[in-house]
Amino acid sequence: MSRVAAFPTPQSRRSEWRSKHAPEAMIENIQEDLFVRIQTDLLVVGDSIMTDRHHASNGNYEDDDPQNQIGGIIPAFPLSGWLRHGIEETVQEYGGTACHPGEANANFMKDDVYDRDLDAGYHEKGACTDDPKEDDGCVVFDLFGGFGGVPGKVMRRPIKFNPVRSSVDYTRGQAEGHYRRLNRNVVSRNEEDNREPLRNVEIDAVANLDGCWHLSFREMKPEFIGLLAEGIDFLDRNKTDFMHQLGGARNFGAGIVDCELINPLYEERELKRVFDRAKSDTNAMDEKDDKWAGEYRPAFVDALEERIEKGP
Ligand SMILES: [Zn+2]
Repeated sequence: MSRVAAFPTPQSRRSEWRSKHAPEAMIENIQEDLFVRIQTDLLVVGDSIMTDRHHASNGNYEDDDPQNQIGGIIPAFPLSGWLRHGIEETVQEYGGTACHPGEANANFMKDDVYDRDLDAGYHEKGACTDDPKEDDGCVVFDLFGGFGGVPGKVMRRPIKFNPVRSSVDYTRGQAEGHYRRLNRNVVSRNEEDNREPLRNVEIDAVANLDGCWHLSFREMKPEFIGLLAEGIDFLDRNKTDFMHQLGGARNFGAGIVDCELINPLYEERELKRVFDRAKSDTNAMDEKDDKWAGEYRPAFVDALEERIEKGP
């Protein structure tokens, strides 16, 4: 009896391997909190950066003084739109169609745009399910939810940034980043005006951002993680495309983002180590990287392919 257990036959060894490498079993080892590393030289998200400048002001605050130690928050909306677009294109690359983010009956500014999108790899929002409910519809709807009161499975959090790296808690989805207010003068083109300023535009920006974006999953499915990994890679590969830059001011080189899904097998202290310039990866981290790239990720991407093949 014990001999059998100690020396399993090749057959039982194979099925053991298969059950150990089934994506459904592997997903159990993934935490519901995942982190995307985001690095960008300049990010402009219109007027929607919230700063904590009042803490630093002390009554004599100058918002363009580089000495200011101002932190703030990048809201999740622009980040979420950017991620979703990358994910939609990934689904299309795998031969599926993605839920359109806009309601089919919405009053779009351009009538023909919605129809054109439907020809270009989208289906009408919610067309993938008759009765919107949890775990239904295409993988994009399942992941993002968004109508019929269905919340979706991934919560996208804002990124809190701080100019002082020692105050940044990467395990809570924070980043090092420097708030700047940019001033632009719009000048007269009329020669006799001598480029007299017509108006002044102030723009909120974050410079030298490096940190973590925290995504938390209400429910884990292997195909979600496969899709996230592929979507983030897609965005990184296409970061200089106008369509895949983040936030506003794209024409001015803002919003070009280096992004990477941080190995979901890392523990908290390993996640911190990624951002510690004085320390390199440990052997345990290297082993986890091999495991992620060689076993986990391919299994999750397989699950994604299978789900897309099955259709919405
Ligand atoms: Zn759909």
